[in-house]
Amino acid sequence: EEVLRLEGLRKSYNVGQPNEVEVLHGLDLRLEASDFAALVGPSGSGKSTLLNLIGLLDSPTAGELYLRGQPTRAMDDEARTALRGRHIGFVFQFHHLIGAFTALENVLMPWMVAHGKPTPEIVDTARDLLRQVGLERLADRKPGELSGGQQQRVAIARALVTRPALLLADEPTGNLDTKTAAEVFALLRRFNEEFGCAVLVVTHDPRLSETCDRTITLVDGAIVADERHPRQQPGQ
Ligand code: ADP
Ligand code: ADP
Repeated sequence: EEVLRLEGLRKSYNVGQPNEVEVLHGLDLRLEASDFAALVGPSGSGKSTLLNLIGLLDSPTAGELYLRGQPTRAMDDEARTALRGRHIGFVFQFHHLIGAFTALENVLMPWMVAHGKPTPEIVDTARDLLRQVGLERLADRKPGELSGGQQQRVAIARALVTRPALLLADEPTGNLDTKTAAEVFALLRRFNEEFGCAVLVVTHDPRLSETCDRTITLVDGAIVADERHPRQQPGQ
């Protein structure tokens, strides 16, 4: 099942100004619901720009981006935001949890932004996600009372509470030690398998990208390689 398709996707910054610069040069890409894909490439190659486009946080200069078959380029901000809220989950390097809220409240946030006051069902779902990331007993703690790895687990549960079709992760392990990073990756993979949620993760760590099904390499705003490989266990 196709989750995402890019066709001739281009992005320029400072359009119409003397310093206009094209940083993505006509990308074609297809992601399936079953994909667990790493996005790699040197600094400045356009990974963040691409993730912002795929996450519907920014719009392309040319080309088209289909999310679950829907063309998105002509959408206004409101439609884009609604589509993002329904289908996309985000995990960032710095987790952006809200310090004044408990872990459970943080997990509920994206759902509340989309739907308002939480129902008993969604609270159950959020608790269940916290259980699945191993934090059932820490649901009432605030982020400041959790370790870095635990905070990133809360962020993953938060990203999944709306059951998105696509999970985008921008260096989600950049801040973590090797062992904790491998655990966070294993969690992402488990949700990819259990929920059929496509995962696209930016990482600089080859030991982690090797555990993905697919590695997409971006250099100077172009996809120079897109390799599928058999799954490996971290550390093998
Ligand atoms: P990466 O995430 O791979 O490091 P980025 O997407 O951040 O790459 O950047 C790709 C290129 O686009 C770089 O040359 C960067 O300087 C440029 N760039 C990023 N954001 C902007 C912006 N807002 N205005 C102008 N240039 C930008
Ligand atoms: P940076 O990587 O530059 O620090 P952030 O990680 O703070 O940027 O976030 C990038 C953008 O994503 C911001 O505009 C932020 O508001 C937005 N954002 C973060 N989380 C979500 C979400 N769950 N849904 C929609 N937009 C989000």
